[in-house]
Amino acid sequence: MQRIEELAKITDEPGRLTRTFGSPAMQRANELVASWMCEAGMKTRVDAIGNLIGHYAGEKADAKILLFGSHLDTVRNAGKFDGPLGVILAIACVVELHRQKIQLPFAIEVIGFADEEGVRYQSTYLGSKVLAGSFDAKDLKRKDADGISLADAIKNFSGDPAKLKSARLNPKNLLGYIEAHIEQGPVLEKNNLAVGIVTAIAGQTRARITFTGHAGHAGTTPMNLRQDALCAAAEFILAVENLARKTTGLVATVGQVKVEPGASNVIPGEVNLTLDLRHAKDSIRQAAHKKLKLIGSQITRRRKLKFANEVVHETRAVVCSEKLSAQLATAVKQQLKKVLHLPSGAGHDAAVMGKITPAAMLFIRCKNGLSHHPDELASLADVGVALDVLNDFILQLAKTHE
Ligand SMILES: [Zn+2]
Repeated sequence: MQRIEELAKITDEPGRLTRTFGSPAMQRANELVASWMCEAGMKTRVDAIGNLIGHYAGEKADAKILLFGSHLDTVRNAGKFDGPLGVILAIACVVELHRQKIQLPFAIEVIGFADEEGVRYQSTYLGSKVLAGSFDAKDLKRKDADGISLADAIKNFSGDPAKLKSARLNPKNLLGYIEAHIEQGPVLEKNNLAVGIVTAIAGQTRARITFTGHAGHAGTTPMNLRQDALCAAAEFILAVENLARKTTGLVATVGQVKVEPGASNVIPGEVNLTLDLRHAKDSIRQAAHKKLKLIGSQITRRRKLKFANEVVHETRAVVCSEKLSAQLATAVKQQLKKVLHLPSGAGHDAAVMGKITPAAMLFIRCKNGLSHHPDELASLADVGVALDVLNDFILQLAKTHE
């Protein structure tokens, strides 16, 4: 918890916590975390995009590697726990092994990902994508708000855009990937549990939806002759809520609405809105999207408007490894009366790492389910439970490892 506080002081913006990809604060954060890794008996390296990796050797030189990780970058005006907690907990596990001079039949690597939040380049998972070999070289041309390309930002961060491809980890050498992370939601708190196990990272569809009607004079156009785009959109938004309420596990949000021309005395002629759909099962999410498109078309047909739907972002759900999750569950049982399995509505590096190696996640309760906010908080007691679970998990895995 002291380390959480120490890391939270490293920021790009005085007075609040902001650490974005490739910034001076990220550099200092990497240096500080690397010093903790060294103290824990790890050899450290920084890869071509700036991921910090600590290696704790196994019994044999060619031992397979169990990965732990989370991200060291943050959103703007962030909380202290989102990301760093997973890295610091993993280091704390290695500290314990090192203190007891335990070497395992596998090596442990702790990764501090250089970019998960994607604040600077409106990207996602730059760090883990490089290690998973799914980095898209087209992203190197992306520019930040100051016009600096991602390629230049990587160079300034002592990375090497030409070596991103070769930085990928070889799946053959990996045992799996474990990420501990605050839940960022209220489910564990509601169930009065310190930790829980993630079943899957929800897939997501983001669409831009447009209702086109006809603008007109608010005083002279009779109600029955209007093609009010906002009234149609309002019907649609409630239908979105209704469908999600009726579909177990589905979350659906309209978070942005733009009304044109947007004047008090003009009938809205066009409405643009965003739709965000998430579910742990792709088929359910896709069916929901199809249903909503149908509802949108029905509303607009009835009201004599036009309906358009454009998918701007789509990610598939990533199911966590059953085997690793069961082993985590065994460790949770030692600490808690109940093992809760829950999906993650938020994206995590585990979603990317899960494509190259079995991945599992441990969620830690956070106060009021609050995250991406300076008041974000996980209690000392809950962090202690998470640490015991992870230590136990590692030792159990060592026992069953062939
Ligand atoms: Zn996070």
